[in-house]
Amino acid sequence: MSLANPKLLCESAYVNGSWVQAQSGEVFSVINPANGECLATVPDMDAEDTALAIRAAEAAWPEWRARTAKERAGILGRWFDLVMHHQEDLARLMTAEQGKPLAEARGEVAYGASFIEWFAEEAKRAYGDVIPGHGRDKRIIVIKQPIGVVAAITPWNFPVAMITRKVAPALAAGCPVVVKPAEDTPLCALALAVLAAEAGVPAGIFNVITCSKARAPEVGEELTTSLIVRKVSFTGSTPVGKLLMRQASGTVKKVSLELGGNAPFIVFDDADLDAAVNGLMASKYRNTGQTCVCANRIYVQSGVYDAFVEKLKIAVSKMVVGAGLDGETHQGPLINQAALDKVKRHISDATTKGAKVVLGGQAHTLGGTFFEPTILTDVTQEMVIASEETFGPVAPLFRFDTEEQAIAMANNTEFGLAAYFYSNDIRRIWHVAEALETGMIGINDGIISTEAAPFGGIKESGLGREGSRYGLDEFMELKYLCLGSM
Ligand code: ADP
Repeated sequence: MSLANPKLLCESAYVNGSWVQAQSGEVFSVINPANGECLATVPDMDAEDTALAIRAAEAAWPEWRARTAKERAGILGRWFDLVMHHQEDLARLMTAEQGKPLAEARGEVAYGASFIEWFAEEAKRAYGDVIPGHGRDKRIIVIKQPIGVVAAITPWNFPVAMITRKVAPALAAGCPVVVKPAEDTPLCALALAVLAAEAGVPAGIFNVITCSKARAPEVGEELTTSLIVRKVSFTGSTPVGKLLMRQASGTVKKVSLELGGNAPFIVFDDADLDAAVNGLMASKYRNTGQTCVCANRIYVQSGVYDAFVEKLKIAVSKMVVGAGLDGETHQGPLINQAALDKVKRHISDATTKGAKVVLGGQAHTLGGTFFEPTILTDVTQEMVIASEETFGPVAPLFRFDTEEQAIAMANNTEFGLAAYFYSNDIRRIWHVAEALETGMIGINDGIISTEAAPFGGIKESGLGREGSRYGLDEFMELKYLCLGSM
């Protein structure tokens, strides 16, 4: 593929400031999901390659943590500038390896970069505390220190933002990082490393090791069991998150997990229906439905159900499906065949149990992993789509009568990442917001992600928060100093 700056397309991993191959010499292919073409090959690294990167990070750490926060902030600020300067190339790379429309990819680069800018600023605000002592001669001081070597394992749905959301706060806190990006989308991670190096991030502080799906378990095991790594930050599926948490328990590492969601989207009788349709379009169909905060279960109150379906149908039928690099599109392909199979399975299970296809419902005529934007009505809690995250462009519409029913159905899941609801009744807004069991809630809003707010889930959707001032704490330890004999 052609980029304005060809050096952003890398076919090596980045360890200790050098561009390297796997010791075995093995590589794997990165595929464009829109046409099946091979974009590049990158090293298929193993546990031993990973251990080398971890040791390099450990060796580089003392010099990095000793720098002033202002020095680290300066380097992060330059990295932010470079990412924004290369926004178009990064967006093209992202659309090529991940499939999202180019406009969305540009948006993600800016969103990803915003974490670098934010944490460059936060680096200088890692304040501690002075606490009144518990004796006349005692003083209590609390300081924050970088936790140490960080391992980050990231998913394919946000190839830039998932890297920066972890790496920027880690670097700001004074920690070195070893990142293992998803096998589907390593190219954006490598391009970010090129720009970080150019910005002045020292060798060994930001390492990217690439590996195939087959090698992910051994690389993951090395990252989570190494005695050197002190923190594991993972975004991905719940089963893998649980496995990594188990593995990390052997050495009691601090763990942050952003796992699956099954977001309810509730439309009450008193809602502004046009606003609710707009919010749902953004929340449901963005990234072909492949985000962990995508609306997955849409609960619509009986009084507005039919009107809502009609309005949604009009909006969805205007969507243009196509390859992101080929012009103006709203929806790209799904990431791979397994994703397509899951979407088909959810739809066929729902229709067998009585759901109706109002729009879409089929693989798209473009072939490959393209799928029609779909609306299902008469969906019930017994269908698989009610309990499993679809991760595709399917909007299943459930009907409810009372507020209590909506809350009970929304909370009837082991997940607790995001929820959305539309209402114009302030009493209801407070009551429902307090009752929903999720870490984030969009109220009369379908897009909630921003670097300024804490992103994260409760229940089995995860641990810890990313972004905001809370995001820095994930990479720091508190140390209490007791000064006696004062
Ligand atoms: P998805 O099903 O959406 O691809 P995964 O949880 O499988 O989600 O993938 C998220 C990240 O976790 C990817 O980087 C992937 O390579 C990695 N991964 C998958 N399995 C393991 C594993 N056993 N150990 C460590 N990392 C893994």
